[in-house]
Amino acid sequence: MWRRKRILVTGGAGFLGSHLCERLLEEGNDVLCVDNFYTGTKDNIIHLLENPHFELMRHDVTFPLYLEVDEIYNLACPASPIHYQHDPVQTTKTSVHGAINMLGLAKRVGAKIFQASTSEVYGDPEVHPQTEDYRGNVNPIGPRACYDEGKRCAETLFFDYHRQHGLDIKVARIFNTYGPRMHPQDGRVVSNFIIQALQGEDITIYGDGEQTRSFCFYTDLIEGFVRLMATDKSVTGPMNLGNPYEITIRELAERVIDMTSSSSRLIFKDLPADDPLQRKPDITFARNTLGWEPKVALETGLGSTIEYFRDLIVKHG
Ligand code: NAD
Ligand code: UDP
Ligand code: UDP
Repeated sequence: MWRRKRILVTGGAGFLGSHLCERLLEEGNDVLCVDNFYTGTKDNIIHLLENPHFELMRHDVTFPLYLEVDEIYNLACPASPIHYQHDPVQTTKTSVHGAINMLGLAKRVGAKIFQASTSEVYGDPEVHPQTEDYRGNVNPIGPRACYDEGKRCAETLFFDYHRQHGLDIKVARIFNTYGPRMHPQDGRVVSNFIIQALQGEDITIYGDGEQTRSFCFYTDLIEGFVRLMATDKSVTGPMNLGNPYEITIRELAERVIDMTSSSSRLIFKDLPADDPLQRKPDITFARNTLGWEPKVALETGLGSTIEYFRDLIVKHG
């Protein structure tokens, strides 16, 4: 008999998690959002609370969780340097203990499980663009290590549960993603630049601005998540998901200034320790396996993100 799938989204009140919950509800699933509201907020999911197929649970994934579900998307983890470095021990615990608990749950109930891994597993890459077989260049004792090594260890756990217990795992390595509901104070470059430009403040470029990133709009990324989850058991990943369009940070600042008609000036600050010089995904594997590639151009995505932050500033100052 047909029944709705029951899907658990950890970190479901965050930027990506809330968009994912919305998408899964639209597809007719029952969605259980688990979050401890460390960086996520109720505002991101408030519009879903009236939906009888949506359930919200305040819970920290470093503690065990006993439920019955068909699929698990494990997104719980602070994602921006400011937040993950605020309490680095908790960051590693969230990635590692969180993964163990969610894998234990998946094992007990036979659920498929998706891990939101990151391009940070490549560290400051010596290979460009990054393919999935590149093993990375991570400093294990630097300030970013709690996040990078936590996520690397989570990948190890996913592959060991797969080999040892036969779990159906899906590991996505997510590259920089942006869009509405990004945390306005999380210090990430897209939100920082847009807010600074809208408020006529100086745009803070760290280093000389020649470092590169590739920015993916959230709708494209969520499409990739859902397609990866729908693959059969032979597809485990790790799979790069991101937009291969690469841009320097200085160029990003200039685009944001243009698009907001801002009078802001560029100022240059010190580059944080271990800040990767360049980053761009090779998405051949995702293209071939999922028939997926990003569709939203940077201009379009930035346009809607600018609108989101404009409204937020009007509402909250
Ligand atoms: P986010 O900070 O908006 O969302 C993370 C969510 O996890 C928040 O709602 C937070 O409250 C919750 N959380 C944190 N610790 C928790 C814990 N111990 N128990 C329960 N909930 C907890 O960040 P995001 O950008 O939406 O990122 C979501 C996932 O995607 C993260 O795992 C992140 O590492 C990964 N990722 C994101 C990007 C990106 O560019 N946005 C890039 C690579 C990887
Ligand atoms: N776990 C959980 N929910 C479950 C099943 C397990 O949170 O439904 C947690 C539990 O804390 C356990 C961990 O997942 O320690 C790993 O589970 P596993 O069965 O792999 O190992 P063990 O129980 O032997 O530690
Ligand atoms: N960055 C910047 N100004 C800011 C915030 C970030 O120049 O106000 C730089 C940062 O040093 C990095 C890039 O932009 O080189 C992307 O930073 P973000 O924190 O968004 O993501 P990540 O470093 O994790 O890719």
